[in-house]
Amino acid sequence: MSDRAPHTLAVAYPSAVPRRMTGMVELDLAEAAHSRLPRPSKVSAVLEAMFAEVGGVAMRAGLTDVLATGARAWLLLRTARVFFGNQGWFTAPCGVCQQPFDLSVDLASVPKSAPGAAFPVITVKTSLGPRRFEVPNGRTEAALAQQADLRVLAAVTGLAPDAGSEADQFTSEDLIAIETALDDATPDVAEEITSSCPACGGDLALRLDPLDFAFPKPERIDRDVYLLARTYGWDEPTILAMPTSRRRRHAQMIASTGGPKR
Ligand SMILES: [Zn+2]
Repeated sequence: MSDRAPHTLAVAYPSAVPRRMTGMVELDLAEAAHSRLPRPSKVSAVLEAMFAEVGGVAMRAGLTDVLATGARAWLLLRTARVFFGNQGWFTAPCGVCQQPFDLSVDLASVPKSAPGAAFPVITVKTSLGPRRFEVPNGRTEAALAQQADLRVLAAVTGLAPDAGSEADQFTSEDLIAIETALDDATPDVAEEITSSCPACGGDLALRLDPLDFAFPKPERIDRDVYLLARTYGWDEPTILAMPTSRRRRHAQMIASTGGPKR
């Protein structure tokens, strides 16, 4: 039997067409970002809500699963910038003195690494012979979120027809070699920022996760719907179908004139 074909989309940083931003799209995004789902499922749901098309393919169930981890992180950053802007502040606790402090982030200049020449497939010399693996994608992330284990990584990314049983036979050296090779071949955006704490001067490396700070909360959209419904008598579907920018303008106008009429 020959190797299976890789699932991972062969474009490291695919083009993507965002949906027209309405309250409905924003609400889907907000609910996904603030849900209790495992992180990979949250990212998939956010990307499904945000983009009509990725890599020239219309959005459909499972499309975000075949995007390489770096592509997913890249598109998540792009989505975050729609709401957060390019630059802004977020608050993080210092890992040394535990004091919260504000950190400036520039989401437009987060570096991203280039894919390896053979992207999205690599070959690794293992004790069972040379074996091929595809770089981790959304499906891999979901499997590892359930069970963070190098054997799971080898089983899910392995292209051999019996990758699952081979994963059980790999030595620990094999597993480390596979993980290292996949890591090197995976294009990725930098998710860590370094800074020093203004209170204690400690050196900090912080994980930059847009899901933690960049997305609107469902409550804010609900509040806008409430204000517009009370003031203008419009129903919820009408309000949610409006472009976000127009809904926000109306909500601000109502707020600045003293809230809804009674
Ligand atoms: Zn500190």
